[in-house]
Amino acid sequence: MNTRTMNAKKRVAMVAHDNKKKELVEWAVYNKTVLGNHSLLATGTTGTLLAAAIDQPVTTFLSGPLGGDQQIGAAIAEGKIDILIFFWDPMEAQPHDPDVKALLRVAATWNIPVACDRATADFILTSPLMHREYEANLPDYSAYVKRKL
Ligand code: PGA
Repeated sequence: MNTRTMNAKKRVAMVAHDNKKKELVEWAVYNKTVLGNHSLLATGTTGTLLAAAIDQPVTTFLSGPLGGDQQIGAAIAEGKIDILIFFWDPMEAQPHDPDVKALLRVAATWNIPVACDRATADFILTSPLMHREYEANLPDYSAYVKRKL
């Protein structure tokens, strides 16, 4: 079984749709101390709001609808993100709905912990695994890659 090592210091990517930004910012402020032990990344607008609220550097990608969700998805596929906190809005269609689905799909493809709501984000952030190295199993895609066409 292949594995991917997550360091004790996790790379946490955060995305929130407009109606969920306030909730994500509140959550981040409440958990500011723990988040301070990790590297934070986010889509453009979410990241700008977070950096101002918690006074901590946040690496930003493009805004979600402009390709930021896809950039985060690509970073997950490249093994550059450990955890995804993605407060997507279940009550409103988004112009980039296909990107939302793609981001959730690529996270499942690479066995990344994903929180789509505050309760799950609390469970992830309070896990003892947040503070130590963790070997995540990687699904074996070799048969797929080597398939005969
Ligand atoms: P934003 O993107 O942080 O730039 O608003 C979030 C999203 O809608 O994917």
